Amino acid sequence: MHIAMAASEAIPFAKTGGLADVCGTLPVQLSRIGHSCSLFLPAYRGAKRVAANLTDTHISFVVDMAGKPMTAHVLKTQIPNSQVDVYLIDQPHYFDRDHLYGDAHGDFRDNCERFSFFARGVVEAIHRLQLPVDIIHCHDWQSGLVPAYQRVGYRGFPWYSQAASLMTIHNLAYQGRFWGADMPLTGLDWRYFNWQQMEFYGDLNMLKTGIAFADMVTTVSPSYAREIQSPAEGCGLDGVLRSKANRLVGIVNGVDYSVWDPMHDPHIAQRYGVSDWKSGKEACKRDLQAQMQLPLREEVPLIGLIGRLAEQKGWGLVIPLLERWVEEHDVQWVILGNGEPRYAHALEEIARRHPERVAARLEFSDPLAHRIEAGCDLFLMPSRYEPCGLNQLYSLRYGSVPVVHAIGGLIDTVCNTTEETLQHGTATGFAFTKYDLESLEICLLKGVELYSRNPELWSKLVHAGMTQDWSWSKSAESYLATYQRARELAAIEGRL
Ligand code: ADP
Repeated sequence: MHIAMAASEAIPFAKTGGLADVCGTLPVQLSRIGHSCSLFLPAYRGAKRVAANLTDTHISFVVDMAGKPMTAHVLKTQIPNSQVDVYLIDQPHYFDRDHLYGDAHGDFRDNCERFSFFARGVVEAIHRLQLPVDIIHCHDWQSGLVPAYQRVGYRGFPWYSQAASLMTIHNLAYQGRFWGADMPLTGLDWRYFNWQQMEFYGDLNMLKTGIAFADMVTTVSPSYAREIQSPAEGCGLDGVLRSKANRLVGIVNGVDYSVWDPMHDPHIAQRYGVSDWKSGKEACKRDLQAQMQLPLREEVPLIGLIGRLAEQKGWGLVIPLLERWVEEHDVQWVILGNGEPRYAHALEEIARRHPERVAARLEFSDPLAHRIEAGCDLFLMPSRYEPCGLNQLYSLRYGSVPVVHAIGGLIDTVCNTTEETLQHGTATGFAFTKYDLESLEICLLKGVELYSRNPELWSKLVHAGMTQDWSWSKSAESYLATYQRARELAAIEGRL
């Protein structure tokens, strides 16, 4: 199959979150199993800097941005060590900046214009490159206009008569919602500015546009696919998603085990696998305690946390929990996160008052993230909502037992410990259902007590987690089946 992907992030070119991991690894996996895959990204300053062997395709064209002619230039590189071609849509006015979406002053004010330009650039570039395309796979709101251009702007163009489209939602909370008067920037007719297609309470909504025009829609776990159809978790789009229910599929993200596996992780003090995890984790725990200036105590449970400092990730529960636990429980905490200052200050303050129990690094550090995964005993992920989540998957492989809120991708990947799941050997972690401090506390206590009192059962949990396979191979197969379904639906509706 010929697949073209459009995204605003992909490792190693540009990353702010899990989206980049997915868009940098899924195309590689698809191409490894025999499909041709190309990826379209904005030519950010950082992306051009890291792109090896960047070449000029000599394809450029003018995009009319509401009367302002802007030239798009198409550059080409590859995802390292792969057959995946990457096309960068270049226009320095929009993309030659230090950040992807905004800076210290907030979101860039011209994001609507930047990503309308990007989406139009992608569709026009595919046409001019004469790339054969069976499916156009779009990720998040930044490429949400692509299915609309393909369906209405380029109807009848030979390069699109064989293509269906897929829209993937990585986080429904980010929709690309702009002032309705920005509609001319899209170049699409005002007649599409209606409540069933592009309009959302008077605004222009790019994610909604993608959902409305795509042949199929996916999100990143089956539970999240169900949750976002409810008013509580639908961020205002639950009605649109319910109307697309038979075209909405949840596919859990895969893990890149060439990067996240303690067997060959270059960042950790001692490599280990399922047969020698005890000695391996002991060495990594000592190393982590030393690096974080915590007392070197082997027997104390060490709890790890990594994540954006945003309300979504559950810091509103973690901070009061820490306040209570630093007084009452003999456990150590290692926390890594950056983001909202209100959480950063609170964490800094707790760590300052209790340096023997809490170590907090308020920065982005990939090597430290690896060391935490290897060195902690329990990994806490109490996200209020979580479309998929990656760190709980890394934790399973690193033998760090995850403690999670039972929602979205977390409950699809972590099996709560009960008598029954222990007996069946399926238990891999601990999960709490009600999103409040008491439920979190009871759940975490259960984990800590099992760790301290029953090493034999603990080993069973670690073993079950470490031997699970969350690699891309299964997820890539699910994407292929979805591409096929999108094509069938487009054919039934007379578009192919
Ligand atoms: P999201 O995309 O919502 O931020 P995910 O769990 O899907 O959450 O992915 C987050 C990714 O970013 C993971 O690979 C995680 O390890 C990494 N990450 C998040 N915060 C940090 C940080 N402060 N330092 C290093 N890595 C981080």
